[in-house]
Amino acid sequence: MKITSDNHIDYLPADEIEARQVELLKKHLSYTLAHSPFYKDKFSKQDIAAISKLSDFSKFPRTSKKDLAEFNAEFLSIVQREVVEYVTTSGTTGKPVSIALSKNDLERLAYNEARSLEIAGFTADDIVQITTTLDKCFMAGMAYYLGLTKIGAAVLRAGQGTPEFHWEMIRQVNPTSLIAVPSFLQKLGSHSSAISNRITRALCIGEPLRNADFSDNQLSKNIKQHWNIDLRSTYASTEMATAFTECQEKQGGHLLPELIILEILDEHGNEVADGELGEVTVTPLGIEGMPLVRFQTGDLARKHADTCACGRNTPRLGPIEGRLAQMIKLKGTTIYPNQIEEILHNYPSASPYLIEIDRDYNGLDEVSIVLPETFTEEESYNLLIGLQARLRVKPTIKKSSASAIQQLLFRGNSRKPKKIIDHRNASF
Ligand SMILES: [Zn+2]
Repeated sequence: MKITSDNHIDYLPADEIEARQVELLKKHLSYTLAHSPFYKDKFSKQDIAAISKLSDFSKFPRTSKKDLAEFNAEFLSIVQREVVEYVTTSGTTGKPVSIALSKNDLERLAYNEARSLEIAGFTADDIVQITTTLDKCFMAGMAYYLGLTKIGAAVLRAGQGTPEFHWEMIRQVNPTSLIAVPSFLQKLGSHSSAISNRITRALCIGEPLRNADFSDNQLSKNIKQHWNIDLRSTYASTEMATAFTECQEKQGGHLLPELIILEILDEHGNEVADGELGEVTVTPLGIEGMPLVRFQTGDLARKHADTCACGRNTPRLGPIEGRLAQMIKLKGTTIYPNQIEEILHNYPSASPYLIEIDRDYNGLDEVSIVLPETFTEEESYNLLIGLQARLRVKPTIKKSSASAIQQLLFRGNSRKPKKIIDHRNASF
């Protein structure tokens, strides 16, 4: 069943997709200029009417996460009585950010997720168990719920819970698919994979499943050891309210052209070449509550513009290879914590874990990995050899009880585990 009238846009020639995007972008910019207190002055010197191709847009100023946190209220572009939903995000600065949605924004979110689920192969025949947080002002869980009901799938709104709880639901209703964070999927699989089930697919959020060349990463391989499951990655954030989701080819998440403009920029704000690593910078189209323009996500990834084997002509976004705020400089080498995590995933006993980043007296970055006491000396030795060989780093290994690590993961009443503690800017 086709749920959208617009998905034919994915198959148009690239220049026709761009022309449609330019038209929607101009509409979005005009709305933002007219309604957003934050952008009013910033746009006064820009000529929206003169934009004829997407690259003309590069003259517009970018918006950082810091802008959104510091001037949060100035982004509100509708009157309070038009707000139907508030969602929150902790951002990277630690200062909570709230995002207000209008009724149309909520409908746009449902449409976005329905499109994304359709690309991932979900249909009205599916029974889908959501294992991610559905409340606590989180946008993601709500988006999945809205999207799934829009395509006519049956939803098991299980939400966050223990593996035992989720297996109980699986036994009871026998779902066909899951929506989950990959490391939770691994945990779930290792608990009771012997129980017969018909789950064949999972839509995964929060952590990448692939390496930069689209081969399965260690986490993906670990999950597949427990069960034979088709894993599809989806990438989104509260601020962008739009998802990039993998089709059956698993060569990056497809962009939804009618909903978002994607730019991959270098540190000076210039667009990098296709396939090169840079900062994911987005302009979600058609947002009324808090429209954003050229929003810098802080995430590093690559864009691939060549036609996908699935037939879609929309650009694809590769896996997130790092977060700018978590960049670690060690003796001339630059690494990101997720590169360490990829190696940690080779050790089933290295769970739970924490990665601590600090700055020493000389102003140089240093890294420690906190692991459970049950992680043996031999494993520690092999882990350090592996890190040295692959990343040229030798972090300090600390041991703690699994329960103490678990507590730290959810510090500050966090809604999701925070595996990185960065003491350098004291932002938690
Ligand atoms: Zn594709």
